Amino acid sequence: MIKIKKLNKYFSDKHILKDINIEVRKGQKVSIIGPSGSGKSTLIRCINLLEIPESGEIYINGTNILNEKNISNIRKNIAMVFQNFNLFNNKNVLNNIILAPILLGLKTQKEAEKNAYELLDKVGLLDKINSYPSQLSGGQKQRVAIARAMAMNPEIILFDEPTSALDPEMVQEVLNVIRDLSKDDITMLIVTHEMNFAKNISDEIWFMDEGKIIEKGSPDILFNNPKNKRTLDFLNKIN
Ligand code: ADP
Ligand code: MG
Repeated sequence: MIKIKKLNKYFSDKHILKDINIEVRKGQKVSIIGPSGSGKSTLIRCINLLEIPESGEIYINGTNILNEKNISNIRKNIAMVFQNFNLFNNKNVLNNIILAPILLGLKTQKEAEKNAYELLDKVGLLDKINSYPSQLSGGQKQRVAIARAMAMNPEIILFDEPTSALDPEMVQEVLNVIRDLSKDDITMLIVTHEMNFAKNISDEIWFMDEGKIIEKGSPDILFNNPKNKRTLDFLNKIN
């Protein structure tokens, strides 16, 4: 579903992503861990073209998206959930969710609303449908952001530290929503510092450091028996 070959990204003269090669199968759940500044966000932002790499290939379903002229075609299929929610603060919850599917012509108003009800029910926020973001807690905002991402019916969803901006008591409600979604066939890439969560929901963990994926493996091997010393050092430091 996702295949990346020799991806390189620079910010001015700083080499941020160094010859990244990855493959993700349809439906796979991958968590990306690693120290701050290692390039995790930049990597997943390249996958929906929020960043444009200097070289390399990014195939989604066999098409190199770096050759694709129509970026909205790609974004329709690849949703992203950000650390800071990025909700439209001047729109209520319902409108946050239905706006993009309607604008992009994916759904009629009626279909989009029906879908929004179902999604809000799924994330436990049907009672907030008419609220504005300023009236919601951080955990509720992030659950709306997840519902909004799902409203595009994407094949791939990218999460960039979805719980890092939350007060501790709200982390679990958001992780529970992501865990529920992970039972679906959707392909997920999750940048996270929640190691227990990553261990439980992921098929594979990638450890990134200094712009490279240093080690990939099953949660069991990567957390309990990492092969690379840098992975081990990182895990020891955070525990
Ligand atoms: P991570 O998500 O692992 O913390 P990032 O991908 O955000 O790491 O950042 C990797 C490196 O790229 C860092 O050194 C960061 O300062 C730099 N960087 C990220 N975004 C930009 C940008 N827009 N302009 C310049 N440097 C950036
Ligand atoms: Mg980041």
